[in-house]
Amino acid sequence: MLSTNLEELWTQFLELVHKKCSPAEYQNWLSPIRFVSATENCITLEVPNIFVKEYLLDNYKEDLHLLFSSSAKELPIEFLIAPPKEKKLSIAPSLPAIPQEKISNLNPNYTFETFVEGPSNQFVKSAALGVAAKPGKSFNPLFIHGGVGLGKTHLLHGIGHEVHKNLKRLSVQCITTESFINDLVDNLRNKSVDKMKRFYRNVDVLLVDDIQFLQNRLNFEEEFCNTFECLINQNKQIVITSDKPPSQLKLSERMVARMEWGLVAHIGVPELETRVAIIQQKAELKGITIPQNVAFFIADRVYSNVRQLEGVMNRLFAYCRLMQLELTETIAENFLKEIADVHPLQAKVSVENILKSVATTFQVRVSDLKGESRIKEIALARQVAMYLAKELIDDSLTKIASSFGGKTHSTLLHAWKKISQELEKNQNLKRQTDLAKQHIAS
Ligand code: ADP
Ligand code: MG
Repeated sequence: MLSTNLEELWTQFLELVHKKCSPAEYQNWLSPIRFVSATENCITLEVPNIFVKEYLLDNYKEDLHLLFSSSAKELPIEFLIAPPKEKKLSIAPSLPAIPQEKISNLNPNYTFETFVEGPSNQFVKSAALGVAAKPGKSFNPLFIHGGVGLGKTHLLHGIGHEVHKNLKRLSVQCITTESFINDLVDNLRNKSVDKMKRFYRNVDVLLVDDIQFLQNRLNFEEEFCNTFECLINQNKQIVITSDKPPSQLKLSERMVARMEWGLVAHIGVPELETRVAIIQQKAELKGITIPQNVAFFIADRVYSNVRQLEGVMNRLFAYCRLMQLELTETIAENFLKEIADVHPLQAKVSVENILKSVATTFQVRVSDLKGESRIKEIALARQVAMYLAKELIDDSLTKIASSFGGKTHSTLLHAWKKISQELEKNQNLKRQTDLAKQHIAS
Protein backbone atom coordinates (compact mmCIF):
# COMPACT_ATOMS: atom_id res chain seq x y z
CA MET A 1 0.00 0.00 0.00
CA LEU A 2 1.39 3.43 -0.83
CA SER A 3 2.10 5.74 2.05
CA THR A 4 -0.23 8.39 0.64
CA ASN A 5 -2.97 5.77 0.65
CA LEU A 6 -2.41 5.13 4.34
CA GLU A 7 -2.69 8.82 5.10
CA GLU A 8 -5.83 8.99 3.01
CA LEU A 9 -7.25 5.97 4.84
CA TRP A 10 -6.61 7.65 8.15
CA THR A 11 -8.48 10.77 6.99
CA GLN A 12 -11.34 8.59 5.82
CA PHE A 13 -11.41 6.82 9.13
CA LEU A 14 -11.71 10.15 10.95
CA GLU A 15 -14.50 11.25 8.63
CA LEU A 16 -16.43 8.08 9.29
CA VAL A 17 -15.99 8.30 13.03
CA HIS A 18 -16.94 11.96 12.94
CA LYS A 19 -20.30 11.05 11.43
CA LYS A 20 -20.82 8.41 14.04
CA CYS A 21 -19.79 9.65 17.45
CA SER A 22 -20.89 12.64 19.48
CA PRO A 23 -19.17 15.99 18.86
CA ALA A 24 -17.80 16.00 22.42
CA GLU A 25 -16.37 12.56 22.06
CA TYR A 26 -14.76 13.49 18.79
CA GLN A 27 -13.40 16.70 20.23
CA ASN A 28 -11.94 15.04 23.33
CA TRP A 29 -10.56 11.86 21.95
CA LEU A 30 -10.09 11.98 18.23
CA SER A 31 -9.20 15.48 17.22
CA PRO A 32 -6.09 15.55 19.46
CA ILE A 33 -4.57 12.72 17.41
CA ARG A 34 -2.07 14.02 14.94
CA PHE A 35 -0.99 12.24 11.79
CA VAL A 36 2.81 12.29 11.68
CA SER A 37 4.00 10.23 8.77
CA ALA A 38 3.45 7.09 6.77
CA THR A 39 5.89 4.65 5.31
CA GLU A 40 4.97 1.96 2.85
CA ASN A 41 3.20 -0.14 5.43
CA CYS A 42 2.98 1.74 8.71
CA ILE A 43 1.58 5.03 9.84
CA THR A 44 2.77 7.04 12.78
CA LEU A 45 0.29 8.94 14.90
CA GLU A 46 1.01 11.33 17.69
CA VAL A 47 -1.25 11.24 20.72
CA PRO A 48 -1.15 13.69 23.65
CA ASN A 49 -1.15 10.89 26.21
CA ILE A 50 -1.51 7.17 26.63
CA PHE A 51 -5.24 7.46 27.37
CA VAL A 52 -6.05 8.75 23.91
CA LYS A 53 -4.20 5.83 22.43
CA GLU A 54 -6.09 3.42 24.66
CA TYR A 55 -9.39 5.02 23.84
CA LEU A 56 -8.70 4.64 20.15
CA LEU A 57 -7.67 1.02 20.46
CA ASP A 58 -10.46 0.12 22.88
CA ASN A 59 -13.15 1.51 20.64
CA TYR A 60 -11.89 1.23 17.12
CA LYS A 61 -9.26 -1.47 17.01
CA GLU A 62 -11.32 -3.76 14.83
CA ASP A 63 -12.26 -1.00 12.43
CA LEU A 64 -8.66 0.07 12.16
CA HIS A 65 -7.67 -3.51 11.53
CA LEU A 66 -10.20 -3.83 8.76
CA LEU A 67 -9.21 -0.58 7.22
CA PHE A 68 -5.45 -0.77 7.41
CA SER A 69 -4.08 -4.23 7.57
CA SER A 70 -4.62 -6.17 4.42
CA SER A 71 -3.12 -9.27 5.92
CA ALA A 72 -0.70 -8.45 8.72
CA LYS A 73 -1.65 -9.53 12.21
CA GLU A 74 -0.19 -6.46 13.83
CA LEU A 75 -1.98 -3.18 13.39
CA PRO A 76 0.38 -1.11 11.24
CA ILE A 77 0.13 1.95 13.47
CA GLU A 78 2.89 3.37 15.58
CA PHE A 79 2.07 5.77 18.38
CA LEU A 80 4.23 8.56 19.62
CA ILE A 81 3.37 10.31 22.83
CA ALA A 82 3.69 14.04 22.34
CA PRO A 83 6.38 15.59 24.53
CA PRO A 84 4.72 17.78 27.18
CA LYS A 85 6.09 21.18 26.14
CA GLU A 86 8.18 21.45 23.06
CA LYS A 87 6.66 19.26 20.46
CA LYS A 88 9.76 17.78 18.93
CA LEU A 89 9.33 14.48 17.27
CA SER A 90 12.03 11.95 17.00
CA ILE A 91 11.06 9.10 14.83
CA ALA A 92 13.68 6.44 14.62
CA PRO A 93 14.61 5.88 11.01
CA SER A 94 13.81 2.38 9.96
CA LEU A 95 17.24 0.84 9.62
CA PRO A 96 17.69 -1.89 7.11
CA ALA A 97 17.72 -5.17 8.95
CA ILE A 98 20.82 -7.27 8.79
CA PRO A 99 20.52 -10.62 7.08
CA GLN A 100 20.53 -12.74 10.25
CA GLU A 101 17.30 -11.14 11.37
CA LYS A 102 15.53 -11.96 8.20
CA ILE A 103 15.33 -15.70 8.35
CA SER A 104 11.73 -15.47 9.39
CA ASN A 105 11.07 -12.53 7.14
CA LEU A 106 8.01 -14.21 5.68
CA ASN A 107 4.50 -12.85 5.91
CA PRO A 108 2.61 -15.54 7.85
CA ASN A 109 -0.47 -15.03 5.68
CA TYR A 110 1.27 -15.54 2.38
CA THR A 111 1.05 -19.32 2.13
CA PHE A 112 0.05 -21.66 -0.68
CA GLU A 113 -3.12 -22.50 1.22
CA THR A 114 -4.33 -18.90 1.11
CA PHE A 115 -3.38 -18.42 -2.53
CA VAL A 116 -6.49 -18.73 -4.68
CA GLU A 117 -5.83 -20.56 -7.90
CA GLY A 118 -7.33 -19.72 -11.29
CA PRO A 119 -6.39 -19.90 -14.97
CA SER A 120 -4.24 -16.74 -14.68
CA ASN A 121 -1.90 -18.19 -12.06
CA GLN A 122 -2.23 -21.97 -12.22
CA PHE A 123 0.98 -22.52 -14.12
CA VAL A 124 3.10 -20.29 -11.93
CA LYS A 125 1.60 -21.76 -8.77
CA SER A 126 2.44 -25.30 -9.79
CA ALA A 127 5.96 -24.23 -10.74
CA ALA A 128 6.30 -22.65 -7.28
CA LEU A 129 5.01 -25.81 -5.62
CA GLY A 130 7.46 -27.88 -7.62
CA VAL A 131 10.38 -25.72 -6.57
CA ALA A 132 9.31 -25.79 -2.93
CA ALA A 133 9.08 -29.59 -2.96
CA LYS A 134 12.53 -30.09 -4.50
CA PRO A 135 14.63 -26.97 -4.10
CA GLY A 136 17.53 -26.81 -6.54
CA LYS A 137 16.36 -29.88 -8.37
CA SER A 138 13.65 -28.68 -10.74
CA PHE A 139 13.62 -25.21 -12.25
CA ASN A 140 16.53 -23.08 -11.25
CA PRO A 141 16.11 -20.19 -11.07
CA LEU A 142 12.36 -19.82 -11.09
CA PHE A 143 11.61 -16.37 -12.42
CA ILE A 144 8.09 -15.06 -11.71
CA HIS A 145 6.95 -11.91 -13.46
CA GLY A 146 3.71 -9.94 -13.66
CA GLY A 147 2.09 -6.60 -12.86
CA VAL A 148 1.70 -5.06 -9.42
CA GLY A 149 -0.54 -6.61 -6.83
CA LEU A 150 -1.01 -9.93 -8.63
CA GLY A 151 0.48 -12.19 -5.97
CA LYS A 152 4.18 -12.45 -6.79
CA THR A 153 5.33 -11.73 -3.26
CA HIS A 154 2.59 -13.97 -1.90
CA LEU A 155 3.86 -16.92 -3.95
CA LEU A 156 7.48 -16.18 -3.13
CA HIS A 157 6.73 -16.30 0.60
CA GLY A 158 4.58 -19.37 -0.03
CA ILE A 159 7.68 -21.17 -1.28
CA GLY A 160 9.57 -20.05 1.82
CA HIS A 161 6.89 -21.38 4.18
CA GLU A 162 6.63 -24.67 2.36
CA VAL A 163 10.37 -25.28 2.51
CA HIS A 164 10.46 -24.28 6.19
CA LYS A 165 7.65 -26.69 6.88
CA ASN A 166 8.94 -29.73 5.04
CA LEU A 167 12.68 -29.32 4.82
CA LYS A 168 13.63 -27.81 8.14
CA ARG A 169 17.37 -28.26 7.78
CA LEU A 170 17.51 -25.99 4.74
CA SER A 171 18.23 -22.35 5.29
CA VAL A 172 15.77 -20.09 3.50
CA GLN A 173 16.48 -16.44 2.94
CA CYS A 174 13.83 -14.11 1.62
CA ILE A 175 15.06 -10.66 0.65
CA THR A 176 13.88 -7.70 -1.31
CA THR A 177 16.32 -6.45 -3.89
CA GLU A 178 16.28 -3.16 -2.03
CA SER A 179 17.43 -4.85 1.17
CA PHE A 180 20.17 -6.74 -0.67
CA ILE A 181 21.49 -3.40 -1.89
CA ASN A 182 21.18 -1.86 1.58
CA ASP A 183 23.06 -4.76 3.14
CA LEU A 184 25.78 -4.42 0.61
CA VAL A 185 26.09 -0.69 1.25
CA ASP A 186 26.24 -1.27 5.02
CA ASN A 187 28.78 -4.02 4.70
CA LEU A 188 30.93 -2.00 2.35
CA ARG A 189 30.90 0.79 4.90
CA ASN A 190 31.85 -1.57 7.69
CA LYS A 191 34.39 -3.37 5.54
CA SER A 192 32.58 -6.63 6.18
CA VAL A 193 31.66 -7.58 2.66
CA ASP A 194 33.34 -10.97 2.98
CA LYS A 195 31.09 -11.83 5.89
CA MET A 196 28.05 -10.89 3.88
CA LYS A 197 29.25 -12.91 0.91
CA ARG A 198 29.75 -15.91 3.13
CA PHE A 199 26.31 -15.47 4.57
CA TYR A 200 24.47 -15.32 1.25
CA ARG A 201 26.52 -18.08 -0.25
CA ASN A 202 25.57 -20.45 2.53
CA VAL A 203 21.88 -20.06 1.95
CA ASP A 204 20.02 -23.06 0.48
CA VAL A 205 17.00 -21.26 -0.88
CA LEU A 206 17.30 -17.61 -1.84
CA LEU A 207 14.03 -15.81 -2.53
CA VAL A 208 14.55 -12.42 -4.16
CA ASP A 209 11.64 -10.03 -4.48
CA ASP A 210 11.39 -7.22 -7.05
CA ILE A 211 14.59 -7.66 -9.02
CA GLN A 212 13.58 -4.68 -11.19
CA PHE A 213 15.14 -2.49 -8.50
CA LEU A 214 18.53 -3.78 -9.57
CA GLN A 215 18.20 -1.86 -12.83
CA ASN A 216 20.66 1.00 -13.19
CA ARG A 217 22.60 -0.11 -10.10
CA LEU A 218 25.68 -1.34 -11.90
CA ASN A 219 27.97 -2.08 -8.96
CA PHE A 220 25.29 -3.95 -7.13
CA GLU A 221 24.30 -5.88 -10.18
CA GLU A 222 27.73 -7.39 -10.44
CA GLU A 223 27.78 -8.46 -6.81
CA PHE A 224 24.29 -9.90 -7.14
CA CYS A 225 25.27 -11.79 -10.25
CA ASN A 226 28.28 -13.30 -8.48
CA THR A 227 26.14 -14.45 -5.56
CA PHE A 228 23.62 -15.82 -8.01
CA GLU A 229 26.17 -17.85 -9.95
CA CYS A 230 27.81 -19.13 -6.81
CA LEU A 231 24.47 -20.44 -5.49
CA ILE A 232 23.32 -21.93 -8.76
CA ASN A 233 26.64 -23.71 -9.17
CA GLN A 234 26.06 -25.42 -5.85
CA ASN A 235 22.51 -26.38 -6.87
CA LYS A 236 21.01 -24.01 -4.37
CA GLN A 237 17.53 -22.80 -5.30
CA ILE A 238 16.90 -19.23 -6.41
CA VAL A 239 13.47 -17.71 -6.99
CA ILE A 240 13.16 -14.21 -8.37
CA THR A 241 10.16 -11.95 -8.86
CA SER A 242 9.96 -9.00 -11.19
CA ASP A 243 7.44 -6.68 -12.76
CA LYS A 244 8.83 -7.49 -16.22
CA PRO A 245 10.23 -10.56 -17.98
CA PRO A 246 14.06 -10.82 -17.90
CA SER A 247 14.46 -9.64 -21.49
CA GLN A 248 12.72 -6.36 -20.74
CA LEU A 249 14.80 -5.51 -17.71
CA LYS A 250 17.59 -3.02 -18.15
CA LEU A 251 20.23 -5.34 -16.83
CA SER A 252 23.47 -6.69 -18.28
CA GLU A 253 23.27 -9.46 -20.85
CA ARG A 254 25.02 -11.73 -18.41
CA MET A 255 22.41 -11.14 -15.74
CA VAL A 256 19.47 -11.54 -18.16
CA ALA A 257 20.91 -14.77 -19.50
CA ARG A 258 21.32 -16.14 -15.97
CA MET A 259 17.73 -15.36 -15.13
CA GLU A 260 16.53 -17.16 -18.21
CA TRP A 261 18.45 -20.30 -17.30
CA GLY A 262 15.57 -21.90 -15.49
CA LEU A 263 11.86 -21.32 -15.86
CA VAL A 264 10.28 -17.95 -16.60
CA ALA A 265 6.64 -17.93 -15.51
CA HIS A 266 4.06 -15.19 -15.94
CA ILE A 267 1.35 -14.35 -13.45
CA GLY A 268 -1.68 -12.67 -15.00
CA VAL A 269 -4.68 -10.64 -13.91
CA PRO A 270 -7.20 -13.01 -12.30
CA GLU A 271 -10.46 -13.66 -14.14
CA LEU A 272 -13.80 -12.66 -12.69
CA GLU A 273 -14.46 -16.04 -11.06
CA THR A 274 -11.03 -16.07 -9.44
CA ARG A 275 -11.57 -12.54 -8.15
CA VAL A 276 -14.86 -13.61 -6.60
CA ALA A 277 -13.12 -16.56 -4.94
CA ILE A 278 -10.36 -14.25 -3.66
CA ILE A 279 -12.93 -11.85 -2.18
CA GLN A 280 -14.71 -14.68 -0.45
CA GLN A 281 -11.51 -16.14 0.89
CA LYS A 282 -10.21 -12.82 2.22
CA ALA A 283 -13.58 -12.13 3.86
CA GLU A 284 -13.55 -15.56 5.44
CA LEU A 285 -10.06 -14.96 6.83
CA LYS A 286 -11.47 -11.88 8.55
CA GLY A 287 -14.50 -13.75 9.78
CA ILE A 288 -16.87 -11.75 7.59
CA THR A 289 -19.63 -13.26 5.49
CA ILE A 290 -20.08 -11.60 2.16
CA PRO A 291 -23.15 -12.38 0.07
CA GLN A 292 -22.35 -13.96 -3.29
CA ASN A 293 -24.03 -11.17 -5.27
CA VAL A 294 -21.99 -8.51 -3.44
CA ALA A 295 -18.76 -10.42 -4.07
CA PHE A 296 -19.65 -10.58 -7.77
CA PHE A 297 -20.57 -6.93 -7.84
CA ILE A 298 -17.21 -5.89 -6.41
CA ALA A 299 -15.19 -8.36 -8.48
CA ASP A 300 -16.86 -7.10 -11.62
CA ARG A 301 -15.88 -3.53 -10.95
CA VAL A 302 -12.46 -3.79 -9.36
CA TYR A 303 -10.40 -5.84 -11.69
CA SER A 304 -6.93 -4.52 -12.29
CA ASN A 305 -5.16 -6.09 -9.35
CA VAL A 306 -5.71 -8.06 -6.18
CA ARG A 307 -4.12 -5.54 -3.87
CA GLN A 308 -6.59 -2.92 -5.02
CA LEU A 309 -9.40 -5.43 -4.60
CA GLU A 310 -8.31 -6.12 -1.02
CA GLY A 311 -8.02 -2.42 -0.28
CA VAL A 312 -11.54 -1.74 -1.50
CA MET A 313 -12.94 -4.66 0.50
CA ASN A 314 -11.23 -3.61 3.69
CA ARG A 315 -12.55 -0.10 3.37
CA LEU A 316 -16.01 -1.36 2.57
CA PHE A 317 -16.02 -3.72 5.56
CA ALA A 318 -14.82 -0.97 7.86
CA TYR A 319 -17.41 1.42 6.49
CA CYS A 320 -20.24 -1.06 7.09
CA ARG A 321 -19.03 -1.82 10.58
CA LEU A 322 -18.64 1.79 11.57
CA MET A 323 -21.98 2.84 10.13
CA GLN A 324 -23.60 -0.38 11.33
CA LEU A 325 -24.89 -1.21 7.89
CA GLU A 326 -25.56 -4.60 6.43
CA LEU A 327 -23.38 -5.27 3.41
CA THR A 328 -25.71 -5.29 0.41
CA GLU A 329 -25.22 -4.66 -3.27
CA THR A 330 -26.66 -1.15 -2.97
CA ILE A 331 -24.29 -0.28 -0.15
CA ALA A 332 -21.39 -1.65 -2.18
CA GLU A 333 -22.52 0.32 -5.21
CA ASN A 334 -22.75 3.60 -3.34
CA PHE A 335 -19.44 2.96 -1.67
CA LEU A 336 -17.70 2.27 -4.97
CA LYS A 337 -19.17 5.44 -6.40
CA GLU A 338 -17.74 7.39 -3.50
CA ILE A 339 -14.27 6.07 -4.07
CA ALA A 340 -14.58 6.58 -7.80
CA ASP A 341 -10.86 6.28 -8.31
CA VAL A 342 -11.17 2.50 -8.19
CA HIS A 343 -13.30 2.22 -11.26
CA PRO A 344 -11.82 4.60 -13.76
CA LEU A 345 -13.47 2.67 -16.58
CA GLN A 346 -16.71 4.56 -16.30
CA ALA A 347 -14.94 7.85 -16.45
CA LYS A 348 -12.44 7.41 -19.22
CA VAL A 349 -13.23 4.56 -21.57
CA SER A 350 -13.56 5.47 -25.21
CA VAL A 351 -14.95 3.45 -28.10
CA GLU A 352 -11.49 3.52 -29.70
CA ASN A 353 -9.95 1.84 -26.65
CA ILE A 354 -12.67 -0.79 -26.57
CA LEU A 355 -12.13 -1.50 -30.27
CA LYS A 356 -8.40 -1.90 -29.76
CA SER A 357 -8.83 -4.27 -26.85
CA VAL A 358 -11.52 -6.37 -28.54
CA ALA A 359 -9.48 -6.51 -31.76
CA THR A 360 -6.48 -7.87 -29.83
CA THR A 361 -8.50 -10.35 -27.79
CA PHE A 362 -10.49 -11.68 -30.74
CA GLN A 363 -7.59 -11.38 -33.18
CA VAL A 364 -9.32 -9.25 -35.75
CA ARG A 365 -8.53 -5.78 -37.09
CA VAL A 366 -10.04 -2.57 -35.73
CA SER A 367 -11.08 -1.68 -39.27
CA ASP A 368 -13.03 -4.97 -39.45
CA LEU A 369 -14.88 -4.04 -36.29
CA LYS A 370 -15.94 -0.77 -37.83
CA GLY A 371 -16.73 -2.37 -41.18
CA GLU A 372 -19.63 -4.38 -42.55
CA SER A 373 -18.10 -7.85 -42.88
CA ARG A 374 -20.47 -10.69 -42.00
CA ILE A 375 -17.75 -13.29 -41.44
CA LYS A 376 -18.85 -15.04 -38.27
CA GLU A 377 -15.76 -14.30 -36.13
CA ILE A 378 -15.68 -10.65 -37.12
CA ALA A 379 -19.40 -10.12 -36.60
CA LEU A 380 -19.19 -11.69 -33.15
CA ALA A 381 -16.20 -9.56 -32.12
CA ARG A 382 -18.02 -6.46 -33.36
CA GLN A 383 -21.05 -7.31 -31.28
CA VAL A 384 -18.89 -7.84 -28.21
CA ALA A 385 -17.33 -4.43 -28.75
CA MET A 386 -20.79 -2.90 -29.02
CA TYR A 387 -21.90 -4.71 -25.91
CA LEU A 388 -18.88 -3.43 -23.95
CA ALA A 389 -19.40 0.09 -25.27
CA LYS A 390 -22.98 0.15 -24.07
CA GLU A 391 -21.99 -1.31 -20.72
CA LEU A 392 -19.03 0.91 -20.06
CA ILE A 393 -19.67 4.23 -21.73
CA ASP A 394 -22.08 6.67 -20.25
CA ASP A 395 -23.20 8.37 -23.44
CA SER A 396 -26.16 8.35 -25.83
CA LEU A 397 -26.59 5.12 -27.78
CA THR A 398 -26.81 7.01 -31.05
CA LYS A 399 -23.49 8.65 -30.40
CA ILE A 400 -21.81 5.40 -29.35
CA ALA A 401 -23.24 3.56 -32.37
CA SER A 402 -21.97 6.19 -34.78
CA SER A 403 -18.41 5.58 -33.57
CA PHE A 404 -18.72 2.05 -34.99
CA GLY A 405 -18.34 3.26 -38.56
CA GLY A 406 -21.75 4.95 -38.53
CA LYS A 407 -23.98 2.14 -37.22
CA THR A 408 -27.43 2.89 -35.88
CA HIS A 409 -28.77 2.92 -32.40
CA SER A 410 -30.91 -0.16 -33.03
CA THR A 411 -27.95 -2.19 -34.35
CA LEU A 412 -26.12 -1.42 -31.14
CA LEU A 413 -29.06 -2.40 -28.99
CA HIS A 414 -29.54 -5.61 -30.94
CA ALA A 415 -25.86 -6.53 -30.47
CA TRP A 416 -26.04 -5.74 -26.77
CA LYS A 417 -29.10 -7.96 -26.27
CA LYS A 418 -27.64 -10.82 -28.22
CA ILE A 419 -24.30 -10.80 -26.38
CA SER A 420 -25.99 -10.39 -22.98
CA GLN A 421 -27.96 -13.58 -23.64
CA GLU A 422 -25.00 -15.40 -25.11
CA LEU A 423 -22.81 -14.57 -22.09
CA GLU A 424 -25.24 -16.38 -19.81
CA LYS A 425 -24.65 -19.68 -21.52
CA ASN A 426 -21.32 -19.46 -23.30
CA GLN A 427 -18.42 -19.65 -20.82
CA ASN A 428 -15.81 -19.29 -23.49
CA LEU A 429 -17.28 -16.08 -24.84
CA LYS A 430 -17.65 -14.83 -21.28
CA ARG A 431 -13.97 -15.40 -20.61
CA GLN A 432 -12.95 -13.65 -23.79
CA THR A 433 -15.25 -10.71 -23.14
CA ASP A 434 -13.94 -10.45 -19.61
CA LEU A 435 -10.40 -10.45 -20.91
CA ALA A 436 -11.17 -7.75 -23.45
CA LYS A 437 -12.76 -5.68 -20.70
CA GLN A 438 -9.73 -6.08 -18.48
CA HIS A 439 -7.37 -4.91 -21.15
CA ILE A 440 -9.14 -1.76 -22.13
CA ALA A 441 -6.66 1.03 -21.57
CA SER A 442 -8.24 3.94 -19.78
P1 ADP B 1 2.79 -8.39 -5.99
O1 ADP B 1 3.98 -8.85 -5.21
O2 ADP B 1 2.61 -9.15 -7.27
O3 ADP B 1 2.74 -6.93 -6.20
P2 ADP B 1 1.37 -9.36 -3.67
O4 ADP B 1 1.91 -10.74 -3.61
O5 ADP B 1 1.91 -8.38 -2.70
O6 ADP B 1 1.49 -8.77 -5.14
O7 ADP B 1 -0.22 -9.45 -3.56
C1 ADP B 1 -1.01 -8.33 -3.20
C2 ADP B 1 -2.12 -8.79 -2.29
O8 ADP B 1 -3.04 -9.58 -3.03
C3 ADP B 1 -1.63 -9.66 -1.16
O9 ADP B 1 -2.33 -9.35 0.01
C4 ADP B 1 -1.94 -11.07 -1.60
O10 ADP B 1 -2.24 -11.92 -0.51
C5 ADP B 1 -3.18 -10.86 -2.46
N1 ADP B 1 -3.27 -11.85 -3.56
C6 ADP B 1 -2.78 -11.75 -4.80
N2 ADP B 1 -3.09 -12.81 -5.55
C7 ADP B 1 -3.79 -13.63 -4.75
C8 ADP B 1 -4.41 -14.92 -4.92
N3 ADP B 1 -4.35 -15.57 -6.10
N4 ADP B 1 -5.07 -15.46 -3.88
C9 ADP B 1 -5.15 -14.81 -2.70
N5 ADP B 1 -4.59 -13.61 -2.47
C10 ADP B 1 -3.93 -13.02 -3.47
MG1 MG C 1 5.51 -7.72 -4.40
